[in-house]
Amino acid sequence: MNARLRAFLRRQREAGLYRSRRVVDSPQGREITIDGRRLLNFCSNDYLGLAADPRLAAAARGALDTWGTGAGAAHLVNGHFRPHHELEEALAAFTGRQRALLFSTGYMANLAVIAALAERGSPVLEDRLNHASLLDGGLLAGARLRRYPHADPAGLERLLERADGPALVATDGVFSMDGDLAPLPELAEVCARHDAVLVADDAHGIGVLGAGGAGSLAHFGLDAQRVPVLVGTLGKALGTAGAFVAGDEDLVEYLVQRARPYIYTTAQPPAIAAATLESLAIAREEDWRREHLDGLVARFRRGLASLGWPLPASGSPIQPLRVGGSGAAVTLSRELERRGCLVTAIRPPTVPRGTARLRVTLTAAHRETDVDVLLETLASVGPVAEN
Ligand SMILES: *Cc1c(COP(=O)(O)O)cnc(C)c1O
Repeated sequence: MNARLRAFLRRQREAGLYRSRRVVDSPQGREITIDGRRLLNFCSNDYLGLAADPRLAAAARGALDTWGTGAGAAHLVNGHFRPHHELEEALAAFTGRQRALLFSTGYMANLAVIAALAERGSPVLEDRLNHASLLDGGLLAGARLRRYPHADPAGLERLLERADGPALVATDGVFSMDGDLAPLPELAEVCARHDAVLVADDAHGIGVLGAGGAGSLAHFGLDAQRVPVLVGTLGKALGTAGAFVAGDEDLVEYLVQRARPYIYTTAQPPAIAAATLESLAIAREEDWRREHLDGLVARFRRGLASLGWPLPASGSPIQPLRVGGSGAAVTLSRELERRGCLVTAIRPPTVPRGTARLRVTLTAAHRETDVDVLLETLASVGPVAEN
């Protein structure tokens, strides 16, 4: 076995695709200590700057004293604690839906939704650039998974016209590696015409978009009738961990009975749910975080334009700079790091071949001067090859 594994590892290295972990010695924030160096941090999904907020830590500490660390069992046995229950009620109110169901990770929530709602052999249609977990859900279901061209309602409609049986359609709300927003109203329209169920994974929209940070669907004014299944994650803008599915009573009860990634796993620690209740309240109330973040995104884009660089097709805090080759992306990332800015290179298979990129993310924890430093540093390493 080891010879086979070593051969694979060698090929990955040669292709510039080898992945390795770095050790972090500080909380998330505008700066981070990683592998012993203090760097400006432009690759966190902590969009509202809440991951290290002392109010969240205080809520978690209080809950640790009350409930202990581990949930000790699955939700359906005796691991469904009061903070989990209250968080589900708060998430239902936050998203304006009848019910919400808590999951331990977004990956599991997506597996659960697709696998529970798709029948074996039934059509599941997904955006070509969807998050891996939505695609894996289709595999778990044994469904007939087809991908439609990125953000293309007409392309989806062509597949739906040929699909037999009730189809499930899934899309990211904000695309994780491109930062663009899915055309959700048009996708919902096409789904309604073909009696298909639309699932939106709003991992990068929750907390960031829409009034009070209620997400991409709130941004577009789409309710549970247009988009029946909403998945949100808690480890990004909300600064904690876990995920939820929000929708009608029937959907949530069905998932509780049927969704294996819900049933066969230990509930998340109740202290995490308590911290999320706190962050949800903060995310709703502190509009200044979203306003500041919007200002930083605009500042970064103005700066790129004045450098004469191509602008990413994204209005979100995810501002990817396309490089093309994996090797070139890694080299550029190393150069930026040498000059004090942490921007990770994203390579295949996370993104399609030939589209390796530097995925710049901004958060409400950044200052305007941090954006200026990043722009100066980018200018000093030279233009990106393509975009
Ligand atoms: C991060 C992410 C997930 C997975 O969420 P986790 O809670 O990190 O497992 C799902 N979908 C999208 C679009 C994501 O970006």
